[in-house]
Amino acid sequence: MPVPRESTSNRQVRVHQILTALRATYPDAHCELVFQSPLELLIATMLSAQCTDKQVNIVTAALFKKYRTAADYAAAPPGVLEEDIRRIGLYRNKARNIRSACQALVARHAGEVPKTLTELTALDGVGRKTANVVLGNAFGLEEGIVVDTHVARLSERLRLTTETDPVKIESALTKLIPRKDWTLFSHWLIWHGRRRCIARRPDCTNCEIRNLCPSGNLGTLNRILAPGV
Ligand code: SF4
Repeated sequence: MPVPRESTSNRQVRVHQILTALRATYPDAHCELVFQSPLELLIATMLSAQCTDKQVNIVTAALFKKYRTAADYAAAPPGVLEEDIRRIGLYRNKARNIRSACQALVARHAGEVPKTLTELTALDGVGRKTANVVLGNAFGLEEGIVVDTHVARLSERLRLTTETDPVKIESALTKLIPRKDWTLFSHWLIWHGRRRCIARRPDCTNCEIRNLCPSGNLGTLNRILAPGV
């Protein structure tokens, strides 16, 4: 049976209800990376690609005591920074990018983290997602919506967009979500994706937004199709 197409006005009402419900469910939602400064958040986010926030926080607890400034990272002798982050996946590549990005911070921004998307994404290893994390969480600037694996998955399950490319997903979401909520919206979806709408086994039965989700029976369906997964 063909899936009925949702009208724009119905979707606007549904999105508003989703935001209200997620705000009530996760009143303390925040970035789960531990940081004290824009530089620390930039480094933590660069380390977090394909790695859990928990593992990043374990490594940065010692890293941030040793490296206080961009100049410290820029001047790290070959092999030393690699050793300091070796418990993180892709550590060689990440060390190279961090050193290079911090050299650029020293050379072009007096060692400070810039506050624009263009300047941030000009740094080695810093893509749109990392830049949005830093702008939204370190500077409180609503410049974009962070689209990670959870945001992409939930946007699809909630039928907020049919796009699959992160940049296109972000573009679609920015048209649906009030700008003042962009940073929090990412946190709400990430928190819901980690706690309830898990990739392989969404807990639809207990989901706080099930009545607003067109995929509400996905968990049941998954358990029928792949019991024990
Ligand atoms: S109803 Fe299921 S698929 Fe929809 S958001 Fe909740 S857990 Fe995810």
